[in-house]
Amino acid sequence: MRKIEHIGIAVKDLKAANETYAKLFNSPPYKLETVESEAVSTSFFRIGETKIELLEGTSDESAISKYIAKRGEGIHHIAYDVEDIVSERERLISEGFQAIGEVKTGADNKLVCFFHPKSANGVLIELCQERSKFPF
Ligand code: ZN
Repeated sequence: MRKIEHIGIAVKDLKAANETYAKLFNSPPYKLETVESEAVSTSFFRIGETKIELLEGTSDESAISKYIAKRGEGIHHIAYDVEDIVSERERLISEGFQAIGEVKTGADNKLVCFFHPKSANGVLIELCQERSKFPF
């Protein structure tokens, strides 16, 4: 793992949260994106080397909507940038981390995969790799 790529924050109202975070950073989100497959709308703010991702569920079935219903708004995941997502995923599985699903396309043109919060002291882990660096 090379760095924290972004921190994901679950929000109830993305539009309102965008205004709040735009004030916090004194800069608007550089990207808004809906990921249909995950039923989320997202926005991204750049903070130096890293990013903040805000996520709002687009349906009650969305993992983000369920998360908020259960635990309220707050930090949802920490995403780590990796060179080779396939081998890093295998390594974590061999170390006993519980993978959630396969490697897939996520927001911000990244390949992503997730590990269960139970594996990592209550924090959902996302691995992400720049798509342009994906070998196939
Ligand atoms: Zn993320």
